[in-house]
Amino acid sequence: MPRITVDENLCKGCGMCVIACPRKIIALSKERISPKGYHPAELTDESLCTGCCSCATMCPDVAITVER
Ligand code: SF4
Ligand code: SF4
Repeated sequence: MPRITVDENLCKGCGMCVIACPRKIIALSKERISPKGYHPAELTDESLCTGCCSCATMCPDVAITVER
């Protein structure tokens, strides 16, 4: 199963990855606040991830790593 990591030190909560994911399994966290003061992106259901890398490609801050 692909493994997605969001570096919360880089994420600025812009939501681009939320739009980019074809499986709609990325959301901005409602509870967590990143060290920079943003709501970071997180996966809602990793089991549905195809490892397509759209999220990582779209992220302007290179905060997402996809391991396949
Ligand atoms: S790799 Fe693809 S399916 Fe998985 S979270 Fe990113 S955009 Fe969504
Ligand atoms: S696109 Fe990158 S910076 Fe924007 S919310 Fe997603 S992980 Fe964070």
